[in-house]
Amino acid sequence: MKPDNTFDPTRRQVVGGLATGMAAAMAAPAFAQSSSSSSPSGNSGNPSNSYDAGGPIWQMQDPRDKYPEPPFPRQPLEWPGLASEMTPRPDHGEESYRGSGRLVGRKALITGGDSGIGRAAAIAYAREGADVAINYLPAEESDAQEVIQLIEAEGRNAVAIPGDLRDASFCSELVEQAVQQLGGLDILVNNAARQQWKPSIMEISHEDFDDTMKTNLYAMYWITQAAIPHMEPGSVIINTTSVVAYDPPKILLDYSMTKAAIVAFTKALAKQVAEQGIRVNGVAPGPFWTPLQPSGGQPQDAVETFGESTPLGRPGQPVELAGTYVLLASPESSYTTGNIHGAGGGAGDP
Ligand code: NAD
Ligand code: MG
Repeated sequence: MKPDNTFDPTRRQVVGGLATGMAAAMAAPAFAQSSSSSSPSGNSGNPSNSYDAGGPIWQMQDPRDKYPEPPFPRQPLEWPGLASEMTPRPDHGEESYRGSGRLVGRKALITGGDSGIGRAAAIAYAREGADVAINYLPAEESDAQEVIQLIEAEGRNAVAIPGDLRDASFCSELVEQAVQQLGGLDILVNNAARQQWKPSIMEISHEDFDDTMKTNLYAMYWITQAAIPHMEPGSVIINTTSVVAYDPPKILLDYSMTKAAIVAFTKALAKQVAEQGIRVNGVAPGPFWTPLQPSGGQPQDAVETFGESTPLGRPGQPVELAGTYVLLASPESSYTTGNIHGAGGGAGDP
């Protein structure tokens, strides 16, 4: 197919409609392996998401074949994009993540918890026994409600706090609401981000630049500053950075700047709050199949081939990072702070 990076609302609607229709029509799992929707160790699963089902994440399998590989259909999504409109639908662990009580009684706030990597962390945290508050944009309410239902299905407290992180006062309100409704806070996952590709610095408007900095950096600073006073020793902060922090693509200049800054923020903050017994770590994903990419994060021709250039030959699915977010939140990693964990399919740093 010929690359076409121009905005075309007609095409967008057709492809979006096709994607939704396909997802709805898929009674069988989108993925190659056989689906087990059994509910191991206390997980209830969610029949309404059966088209999401990957195999159980713990099952031994060739990592190359475990999930879909390119080519993918072009699918321009209107920003910020919905996971429910992606083809194939991402696996966030709806059917495939099994918990084992590693975060019992913990209280987590996850930004961007409606979709993608944040949703995978939210589902996993609930299955590990944590209560979870998620933040997202009002336009993402339908994705967010799926996550709320999955958290509640585990018998955990699920708190939905929509709002725009570019607003400083909303960020402090978000933390206050999360603390109040969860009855405390001991896991903060700064995960929301804005990624809009531009071929040249000349095409990054001041407004674009400001929106990217506000969402990815200012919000992290505002939220973390509001959260620390509520955190007891043993609490954790986890920031989502990216492989682009280490090798920035030329079309992601402003976004890559923020991801590199998140690495520095993580390492400096870890040194500051060690004396309070708070750990701070980062996660640096490679290409993951989430709404961030088809909603302006990449040109559509790059969506078609997404993940192809990695040694594993495919993008990661959000659930493939769930265990990393659980490990970093859990006391099992009590000596890990100021570190960045990677998941790049064989490419990229750290
Ligand atoms: P995603 O689109 O599912 O999640 C990003 C979320 O950011 C959105 O769901 C939205 O709720 C939130 N967001 C954006 N702007 C916001 C605003 N102004 N106010 C409130 N919320 C806002 O995509 P994802 O890929 O799961 O992204 C999660 C994190 O992973 C991001 O930090 C991203 O940079 C990082 N990451 C993703 C990839 C990838 O290939 N998908 C690679 C490396 C890093
Ligand atoms: Mg989203």
